[in-house]
Amino acid sequence: MSITRRQFGRQITAMSALSMAARFSPRALAQSAESASPQPVGYAIIGLGRIADHFMRGIQASPGSKVTALVSGHRDKAERIAAQYNVPKSSIYSYEEMDAMRSNKAVEAVYVALPNSMHAEYTIRSAKAGKHVLCEKPMAVSVAESKSMIDACNQANVKLMIAYRCHFEPTNLKAVKLIHDGEIGKVQSIQSAFGFDIGATEWRLNKKLAGGGPMMDVGIYCLNATRYLTGEEPSDLRAYATSDASDPRFKEVEENLVWNTKFPSGVVASCNTTYGANMGGYYRVYGSRGWIEASPAFNYDGLRLRAEYLGRDGKWVSLDEPNLEKDPIQFTRQADHFSACIRRNLTPKTPGEEGLRDMELIARLYNSAGITML
Ligand code: NAD
Repeated sequence: MSITRRQFGRQITAMSALSMAARFSPRALAQSAESASPQPVGYAIIGLGRIADHFMRGIQASPGSKVTALVSGHRDKAERIAAQYNVPKSSIYSYEEMDAMRSNKAVEAVYVALPNSMHAEYTIRSAKAGKHVLCEKPMAVSVAESKSMIDACNQANVKLMIAYRCHFEPTNLKAVKLIHDGEIGKVQSIQSAFGFDIGATEWRLNKKLAGGGPMMDVGIYCLNATRYLTGEEPSDLRAYATSDASDPRFKEVEENLVWNTKFPSGVVASCNTTYGANMGGYYRVYGSRGWIEASPAFNYDGLRLRAEYLGRDGKWVSLDEPNLEKDPIQFTRQADHFSACIRRNLTPKTPGEEGLRDMELIARLYNSAGITML
């Protein structure tokens, strides 16, 4: 029995390795670390909120990328930021004027950093203006919108990348590699959670803008992680959602969502997201020879990888690796990668199809939990 189990484990590891190889191959990893050509790719930043600030600071360290235009509803704020990044006033656009960017040769790509329900419109308008699109997660608020974004970018012959920064981040990549190399044996089970106690004035609580609650916002990190850690696509998902009816924050979107996922190899995942408690963001992966934990796993910095497993030589291995990198390096890597893809005509590691897969799974999770999507 134990021999059969071991053989099965090797087979599964090999199968997982094959599917992971495509996304985490040395070439893909090298792409994420390299910088683009000497001619930087000019980016228009659409939406000047919190994540755009991280991205613009990150771009400053990316030799292949440059902020060259801003799109905002607040001219005074845009002028202040333009002065900081040496963007000419003539390259500040309102949302209404944005299509005029078509004739601005200094803009080759856009970064869409707007509320979720605006991603589709601004991606499609940017593609029609001939610009490559790096769009924040979640890709959109429905499967249909996600498909129309992919179609628009294909028709315009521009690249579309979804800003899944963890795919370029060393702690997450090391966790994937340890699993891929079979260090913890046959993966059996994953636990993951991400949530925070949300402020009452956030657009994230407005269903028309957010499309959903914590699942769309931070639960998506856990969902995506279970896919990149296993290298598999879920075969089944079941979810439950709850909300405190007396809390005015949760009139439109869910407060809590928990879900279980089954993968074709037999791996099971158990995940949890909330807007009602600060739970950080982490995952723990249990294999037949030990475990790996990234906690925090999804923050902008301060990530930490721990693992304990029975090594092939029969001795226990114990890892504890804090990641000392500082924000905004994850955003620099993301910009490096997309700019290199534009310059070298490569497909991004996290293309529109990666965002679409998560949207399809979120649609199934919401359906399972009895939540109607937009
Ligand atoms: P934010 O509220 O800080 O910024 C949103 C921006 O959109 C603001 O500049 C705001 O002025 C503008 N905006 C335009 N129309 C708006 C409207 N009708 N209502 C509200 N704002 C409007 O939000 P954020 O935290 O920067 O999130 C923006 C996007 O980035 C979201 O899709 C979010 O999921 C994503 N995000 C990604 C990460 C990541 O780590 N990749 C982290 C946070 C947010």
